[in-house]
Amino acid sequence: MNEVLRQFPAVHELLALPSFRSLIEEFGRDVVTQSLRHILDKLRKSALQGINVAGQLNSEQLSVQIRECLIDANRLYLQPVINATGIMLHTNLGRAPLAQEALDAAVMAGEGYLNLELDLNTGKRSHRSLAVRSRLMQLLHCASATVVNNNAAATVIALRALARGKEVIVSRGELVEIGGSFRIPDIMAVSGAILKEVGTTNITRISDYEKAVTDNTALLLRVHASNYRIEGHTEAPSLEELVSLGRKMQLPVLDDIGSGALIDMKTWGLHDEPLARESLETGADLVMFSGDKLLGGPQAGILAGRADLIQKIESDPLMRAFRVDKMTLAALEATLRLYANPDKALEQIPLLQMLETPLALLQERAYALARFLGNVPGLAAHVITVQSMVGGGSLPGKSVESAGLAIRSEQHSAQTLSQRLRQQQPAILGRIENDQLILDLRTVPPARDQQLLEMVQQANA
Ligand SMILES: *Cc1c(COP(=O)(O)O)cnc(C)c1O
Repeated sequence: MNEVLRQFPAVHELLALPSFRSLIEEFGRDVVTQSLRHILDKLRKSALQGINVAGQLNSEQLSVQIRECLIDANRLYLQPVINATGIMLHTNLGRAPLAQEALDAAVMAGEGYLNLELDLNTGKRSHRSLAVRSRLMQLLHCASATVVNNNAAATVIALRALARGKEVIVSRGELVEIGGSFRIPDIMAVSGAILKEVGTTNITRISDYEKAVTDNTALLLRVHASNYRIEGHTEAPSLEELVSLGRKMQLPVLDDIGSGALIDMKTWGLHDEPLARESLETGADLVMFSGDKLLGGPQAGILAGRADLIQKIESDPLMRAFRVDKMTLAALEATLRLYANPDKALEQIPLLQMLETPLALLQERAYALARFLGNVPGLAAHVITVQSMVGGGSLPGKSVESAGLAIRSEQHSAQTLSQRLRQQQPAILGRIENDQLILDLRTVPPARDQQLLEMVQQANA
């Protein structure tokens, strides 16, 4: 047995060989050494069990094996995905894709220095929110605005700055959970504000709010029930009623509208989506919404409304913890600039483009793709009508008609085919229905069609 172990090459000798030296140059000495030790250990164990490993101790073979392992281990975890799920704002897939101008701005911010907190006119220090404040004021017709990391952070900081240790009145019908870890009662607890629930799950009246007001009440909060809907006998006060109660009691009204559409979504049959501007016009003192939902920008939480409230929020120590990064801010500024001209926004913001694309155009693409895939041996594809969803906790139950490819493979089950498609580069994500793989084209940029075909063929091979 010792005889076998004596044949094992020494690590330091192997590392001195040219093939290993080039591995070290590429991947670094530590990982190559670790990987080599790992492989030799495994071979040693096999040898001790009496398995003949002599053929695997060849230095060339070892270096090839290590290269393969390291290329695999070195691959970036984050990979591009072709989203063929039909869910336009898919939180697991990074929500909204950015407009080209937003991408350019993020690259500019990342590659060099920029006047992030510097006024180039005076040479004095300024605040990073200035990059978006006046644009938001113009778009939303409000007195001031600021930005933090996401809408969850916006809610926490607003409640903390304006209501810490005091009561915040919320309807029981609005104590929602959005996307796993955003639960209004938890957010409230974290902020230090005291939750005062009023009404019931389905019925809350303005009188319930009024009765709950005490000397210790700081504000009235309304939360858009983004991802669910109660049907049947329901009642909730209108924003007008809340605003007039707020005025009477001298309490600010905060409106967490969630998705933050900046343009009217009714054109796409998406009613009931609150517009930030309308909420402010109705008299909400502060609105809060996400940057990466219906706005179609980067992850951000926008707060807009009364200047004194924004100033209090910006002076809160949490602002430092929640401040947005320079690349995000640059992308958000560029996205907001597109909205100054709504036609430009429609043309250039990918989310709005997806919503705008007529069904006929999607069908045309789907037929071309199906025709091609139909000629691939072992594959069958046909065009079906599917429903794309906005997603991202917006517009529950609302969908937009779309064209899908239904694909069946002779070799693989739908499960296996979809698993193999996830492992392509780029990965493709669809969904499975009736043992068919369904690819919804509304969320696939047309420029990706060719790649989609190649990946499906490869996955099926
Ligand atoms: C999505 C959503 C949030 C959370 O927003 P993030 O930007 O994901 O943190 C909060 N409130 C409402 C009503 C939402 O729809």
